Amino acid sequence: MIGIFLSSASSAATAIVVAAKLALLNLLWDMKYKLNILLFIIFIVIPATTVYAQEENRRFFSSGFCTVFYYDDVDLKRVNRHLNLVFSNFYSPRNYKENPGTSIEDMISDKFDAIFNRAEEILDMYPSKIHVAINIYKKQEDMDKVYEEFFNGPNKAVSFYIYKTNTIYTIESQLNENILSHEMAHCIIDHYFVILPPRKIQEMLAVYVDVHLKD
Ligand SMILES: [Zn+2]
Repeated sequence: MIGIFLSSASSAATAIVVAAKLALLNLLWDMKYKLNILLFIIFIVIPATTVYAQEENRRFFSSGFCTVFYYDDVDLKRVNRHLNLVFSNFYSPRNYKENPGTSIEDMISDKFDAIFNRAEEILDMYPSKIHVAINIYKKQEDMDKVYEEFFNGPNKAVSFYIYKTNTIYTIESQLNENILSHEMAHCIIDHYFVILPPRKIQEMLAVYVDVHLKD
């Protein structure tokens, strides 16, 4: 009986030790688990939601020649007001007034395409399958950051075109038909020539487009 008692006592003690070890392991596991969850939240979930939140605020729409990207703080009505298309018989503001169902995106799309058409016409260059991305930023600083990443230097322009990304970068407050036609001209020139003319010649051609836009 004693033996049995002892053995059962020792087995009880062993059981307690095992239980204590298991509890400790569980606790450690639990801590590690909690720590892992915490680290997961800090490094994976939070940045992902930030990116997701940013991406959620990023919007776009497409026209025949352009896909326009912008964050929802950009005032599209202001962008539309700044695009004055007296040169184009393709676009008539009166038609839009008669049709209140036309969205602001549609109005801007039509204007952008009209400017693109006109730039091609002035250059007499019609590269096939041409399509350009246009990023509209709210603030100059936001656009400057992109420029600095690409060129490792400070930006001095209110807009620019990068061939590598086939994108026009511009800001809400500065965008107008002349600036846009100039940058679109850079896109058209870069896609037209097999061997690109020197930078200065490209610039002369682009300036020619914005100067003669309303001829
Ligand atoms: Zn230029």
